[in-house]
Order: sequence, then structure tokens, then C-alpha cells
Amino acid sequence: MKEADIERLSSLSRPHGDMINIMPLQTGGMLTEAARRVLVDFGDGYSVCDFCQGRLVDIANPPVRRFVTEILPEFLGSESATLTYGARDGVFMVIHSITKPADVVVVDGNRHYSTAVAAERAGVELVVVPNSGYPEYTVDTEAFAGVIQEHNPALVLLTYPDGRYGNLPDAARLGKIAESMGVPYLVNGAYSVGRMPVQMNELHADFLVGSGHKSMASAGPSGVLGMKSKWEDVVLRRSALHKNKEVECLGCTLRGVTLATLMASFPHVVDRVAHWDEQVAKAQWFSTAMEAIGFKQLGEKPHRHDVMVFETTALFEISQRVRDRGYYLYKEMEARGIWGIKPGQTKALELSTFAATHEQLEQVIEAFKAILHKYR
Ligand SMILES: *Cc1c(COP(=O)(O)O)cnc(C)c1O
Repeated sequence: MKEADIERLSSLSRPHGDMINIMPLQTGGMLTEAARRVLVDFGDGYSVCDFCQGRLVDIANPPVRRFVTEILPEFLGSESATLTYGARDGVFMVIHSITKPADVVVVDGNRHYSTAVAAERAGVELVVVPNSGYPEYTVDTEAFAGVIQEHNPALVLLTYPDGRYGNLPDAARLGKIAESMGVPYLVNGAYSVGRMPVQMNELHADFLVGSGHKSMASAGPSGVLGMKSKWEDVVLRRSALHKNKEVECLGCTLRGVTLATLMASFPHVVDRVAHWDEQVAKAQWFSTAMEAIGFKQLGEKPHRHDVMVFETTALFEISQRVRDRGYYLYKEMEARGIWGIKPGQTKALELSTFAATHEQLEQVIEAFKAILHKYR
């Protein structure tokens, strides 16, 4: 290794310390104080395995068994639950275990790229129920019935909400449709589980997927998967060669600090979900304030989630005549203590109001105003 690389790798640090964070990927994964405390203690590899007798989900200390078999299913509204490396892994585990290659999976037009890649890896075909297009991009769950009728899918998957517009389709209605047509139904809650109340049984779903590092104040990669107990024999099936080990997850999943932070943050996550209405009010206030400056919120209105995208034509026009081109915005926002604008992006901005306080969001609005004024 070169001297400069040794120096660089052994002195890693993040660029944005205590800045106001509005990056959708990051706002729900920021650690709690409790999680921060376990970081070092459980930092060593295999640190949760001190008392493992062969199955991760049976470990009594730390209380993995209680967490996975009781606390998580109650939180998810599921009959059974397991740990995964993230939302995409939960989606893949389900697709891979309940479908055969060449089967059809019906998905919404706002599905995450990782859903498409999971389907590709499992060798199944995706049939998409399109969204409504500009400007709301909503998904009408009524439209699934005809598509299910036509394609006879092995699984129906709904993204709830999607990660770009933050739209919340009628997941319970689709659950009823899927149930009445006898098709297993998976809700991808990467942006809902850990942020807002979501109960698998109330959505009439067979599976509910969540992301620890995206929405459960946890280090990653980590995730959760709730399911009806009738699917345990399929998704959690045991190896013929190693009776203690599950096939679909290659034996076991989270083996250290990621699980420790997921559990340490969990009481706080349960509590914050109960305050979701405050998050929605904050998001709606922010959307209104952004529109008052002249930006246009895309996606559902009034908005019901902290993830939002704005069409910011005025900021794009500035990028066409400044030396830094699209990068000016990122630099101007960073200079004002605001983190989360993707470098180069000006035409449309994806933001999340989840982690910032009302006062901080006022600073974000003031920053946009100041930038528009400066480059007028
Ligand atoms: C972020 C995201 C994912 C991927 O989450 P991971 O936990 O990183 O796998 C999947 N689906 C949606 C809708 C997302 O927004």
C-alpha cells in the first residue's frame, strides 16, 4: 500500500459533522444516543455471537430471540419476523423463495431499482402497473386487479412509500385485492417501517419489509422482514445438511454492530412512530414554504410523508450561467450548513424533512431564498 493511502484510510472522517441533514437516504438512519453507545462495545466482528448455540435468532444475550420472536412481530403487525441485511435483501429473500424462474411478479411503477434487480437475480419477470405520470406520479391500487387477472403472478409487490416522490398508495386496498385473488402480497416499507405506523395485518399483506439503516436509526446494512407464519416453512426453510441453518439467508444475517444498534435504537423508534402526525405536519409546512418561493412539489398533495421532490426550475436556470454549473447549489448549501443536496443536481431536488427541526427547516428555506437572491 502507498504511504498516502495508509494515511487516508487510517484517518477517515465524514465531511458534514453537525450540519442540517435533509438527505432522504440518511435522515431516518441517524443513530440514537443509545445506539452510539453500543457502537464500540459491539464493534468487533461476530460480537453478538458470544452465546450463540447455532441460531442467531435464538441468542438470549444480547436478547436477539426476544427481539426477533416477540418485539419485532408486534411492531410490524406480523405473525413472524426475521433479520435481513436491508430492504432489498428482504425483497430478494421473498421473491427467491416463493417464485420459480419465469414466474411473474406484479409491481407498482414507483418500485425501487433494487426490486427490479432482485427480480432479475431470481429470474422472474416484472409486470409494472404504471404511475399516473407528471406531476403527482400516484399509483392507483385499483388498477392491479386487471393486471393480476391477466398475468397470474406469483407475487404482488407495492412500494410504500416510494423513495422519490414519497407517495403513499392505498396499500390496504391492494391487500384486499391480492387476498381475494389468492396472490401473496409484499409491502416494501423501506421508507415507512420505523418512521410511520405500518402494520402488516392491517394492510392484508403476507410480507412487510423494512430497512434498519434507512428508517430505523441503525447502522447498516440491516433490515427486517415480517411475514405470516404460513410462509415460515418457505422463506425460513432449514438446510437439509445443517438442520440449524436457514437456506435463504445462508445460515444467519446480522452478526455484530448493525444488530446491536438496531436493538438499542428500537425503543426510540417505537416512540417516534407514535409521533408521525407531527412529521407529516412539518413536511406539509415545508412543502408550502417551498412553493411560496416558486418551487413545485411533485408527488401527492397534500403530502403525507417526509420524503419529497421539488421541481426547482429557477435553480436550474442559474446553473446554466454560472462557472460551477450544477455544482454551485451544493456548494452554496454546504456553505450555509445544509447537507443533502446531491452535487450537480439543480433541476429537481429530493429532500427529507424527517431529521431537521422546524427551525432548521426555516434555515433551509432562508438558504434557498438567499441563493435565489444572490444569483438573481
Ligand atoms: C432505499 C430503498 C430500498 C433499499 O433499501 P436497503 O435497506 O438499502 O436495501 C428499497 N426500496 C425502497 C423503496 C427504498 O427507498
